[in-house]
Amino acid sequence: MESYNQKINLENTNISLYIKREDLLHPLISGNKIRKLKYNLQQAKNENKETLLTFGGAFSNHILAVAAAGKEQGFKTIGIIRGEELKDKVLENPTLKKASDLGMVFEFVRREIYKEKSSPEFTRLLTEKFGDFYLIPEGGTNDLAVKGCEEILTETEDKFDYICCAVGTGGTVSGLINCSKDSQQVLGFPVLKGDFLREDICKFVSGTKWDLITAYHFEGYAKVSEELILFINEFYKKYKIPLDPIYTGKMMFGVMDLIDKNYFPENSKVLVIHTGGLQGIAGMNNLLKHKKQLQITIYD
Ligand SMILES: *Cc1c(COP(=O)(O)O)cnc(C)c1O
Repeated sequence: MESYNQKINLENTNISLYIKREDLLHPLISGNKIRKLKYNLQQAKNENKETLLTFGGAFSNHILAVAAAGKEQGFKTIGIIRGEELKDKVLENPTLKKASDLGMVFEFVRREIYKEKSSPEFTRLLTEKFGDFYLIPEGGTNDLAVKGCEEILTETEDKFDYICCAVGTGGTVSGLINCSKDSQQVLGFPVLKGDFLREDICKFVSGTKWDLITAYHFEGYAKVSEELILFINEFYKKYKIPLDPIYTGKMMFGVMDLIDKNYFPENSKVLVIHTGGLQGIAGMNNLLKHKKQLQITIYD
């Protein structure tokens, strides 16, 4: 699997900007999810597990990634989905429909119960119901996922001064921090509100050459504004690079805004990681259509 660094030609600045197209690694196991699953699937095999079980929301990139990776590598897959009301909506939900076509079995749970998903009691109930499984946490972040994300940067990226990526649970940015050079600064752009991320990341990293830029969450996880959608559509028109509304769109909006505000020193070389997530556009467009709001341009 390989991705490449694509130049983004900016005007009126001496900052050079590149994007690492991890979104091109796989059509279904999007961007960073293929990195996060690699060593987990090896571990599941080492433990002779036949089933993968994980958790996610209605449009989760991680859920689809696990369904697709499981299918490719011969595992049964179970998805514990947040929201009991989604049970009857699988066919109208592009993410769940694809995951189901790939063989994933769903268990839909009420939000109050979903909150307890990490408790030993919930795991025990799941084992009673489904038998033995290899558990992958929500969003896929654990030590082995971070190890996989440490392979995103190679010597090719040594020349960059800044590495930027979107942050959900923090596994990907942790891997980037661990594999970055001393000369590099890693900037994470959280896509949700909250202060817990810094602590979560500290559990996985030792370096201090990183920071979180918390001004671009657009009011929270999976929340979008017309300004964000206009930005994503403009960006696609100009550079022919598709961005997703939940992660990479917000991060890229932030990076462009920081460039405008002269955040980066003169002549900085900046690399942004395209972590994928494009499968989520269809589901978001359904929601936007429902609310009679602007659609995200679908690329071909
Ligand atoms: C899951 C995901 C992220 C967040 O990764 P974390 O390791 O949870 O921080 C970023 N971008 C995309 C496209 C994702 O699907």
